[in-house]
Amino acid sequence: MFEKIPVEVGLTHEGERVRKNDMQVELGGPNEKEKFEIVRVSPADQIEDGRISIIGPDLGEMGEGKHYPVAIIVEVSGAKVEPDLEGVLERRIHEYSNYIEGFMHLNQRYDIWIRLSKKSYKKGFTSLRFAGEVMLELYKSELPIIEKIQITFITDPETISPLYAKALTTYEARDARARGLSDDDVDSFYGCALCQSFAPTHVCVITPQRYANCGAISWFDGRAAAGIDPKGPIYAIDKGTCIDKVKGEYTGVNESAKQRSMGEVNRVYLYSAFEYPHTSCGCFEGIAFYIPEVDGFGIVLRGFRDVTVNGLPFSTMADSTAGGRQVDGFHGISIEYMRSMKFLGADGGYNRVVWMPHETRERLKQFIPESVFGAIATEQDVRTIPELKTFLESHNHPVTSRWDAEEETGRAEDGSPRIPVFSGGDIPFTSGGFRIILKNARITADKVIIQPIKPGSPGGEHHGAKKP
Ligand code: SF4
Repeated sequence: MFEKIPVEVGLTHEGERVRKNDMQVELGGPNEKEKFEIVRVSPADQIEDGRISIIGPDLGEMGEGKHYPVAIIVEVSGAKVEPDLEGVLERRIHEYSNYIEGFMHLNQRYDIWIRLSKKSYKKGFTSLRFAGEVMLELYKSELPIIEKIQITFITDPETISPLYAKALTTYEARDARARGLSDDDVDSFYGCALCQSFAPTHVCVITPQRYANCGAISWFDGRAAAGIDPKGPIYAIDKGTCIDKVKGEYTGVNESAKQRSMGEVNRVYLYSAFEYPHTSCGCFEGIAFYIPEVDGFGIVLRGFRDVTVNGLPFSTMADSTAGGRQVDGFHGISIEYMRSMKFLGADGGYNRVVWMPHETRERLKQFIPESVFGAIATEQDVRTIPELKTFLESHNHPVTSRWDAEEETGRAEDGSPRIPVFSGGDIPFTSGGFRIILKNARITADKVIIQPIKPGSPGGEHHGAKKP
């Protein structure tokens, strides 16, 4: 099927990473402001089936180790191809392009990040035309409802700019469609296992009020995808009985998560970042991260280049959040979920959010309750946790009322506040011949003592101070 492609194409290459030193060229990614991919359903007479166009420099004309903007526009038609399917077909760009040896595709929509390896380039992968040919072939063979398809790659920034603005409007229109619907209005949710090649135990549960983590698939998209291919990677989940309305726990979701994660995930709280949070693959648009010192959440989106208020950048926290795990207090989220009335509903919603980048706060202004908007700090207000604490107190943030309650239970014997030592993650230890694992542990202490280890002392032996 892919004899003319100079590198291998197949499932074995899905999930491959291309590191910076091995990279021939980078398209999109954090160094490029305007990049996107989109699928549009178009009238059949406007599509030349099988056409691949490249506007701007092609791979062979790009400098080694350099980065460039990129747009990928896939136009499709077919008697059964509805505009409802655009979001789902668009997500296949990620899947199909990752089958190509040495071609790394991450994220979605306006966040795409592509790298080509030097090795694949040397094998002859010197044109985006090859990527187009692979995608054309896979779209047609895996989704026979597509009758005609053409693909355009653009790397010229001036051509990308007006189309980028138009693409943002299209994404917004898609997202807005699901906003009128509540989780109580529907009997089925949808699951997506497309990212299991990167995170084998991850399963997205897509509901009207909890958009997919990648921000690319709405409940409507899920319904359309499951309708055309019920055995495909996007499938219907019968909600079953609601166990907890506030946390968003349903028997059908638990059962489905158990099956699809091969028993790793048995319970899911759709609207909480604690105990049994929704798993996170690596495609999330943002992270809600717990800040134990103030008992609130910070939010950071993928594009934020500075460090957050806890001193960590997005990339470091993404490593702790991703992988298909349920990590207490580190929660992969989409921007559209942040617009939902159910956003972190069980944890206090926006009344628990204490920090986010200024740009994000502005972007979500319409969806953040007015009563708390000004009390959420940004990088322009505070840089450290002590500064954050002062800011929250002076702005009378609702989270401060939790501190009083915690004061009563969270005091050491001498009356001083207990100190958070560890929050989130698992702590394994061995005792009495048993291996004990504290899942999602949170540890506080009356006092923390930090002492340097002196050479020769029992704790210093590991540092090689003692010679045999
Ligand atoms: S993040 Fe979720 S919804 Fe999006 S492609 Fe991955 S599994 Fe599917």
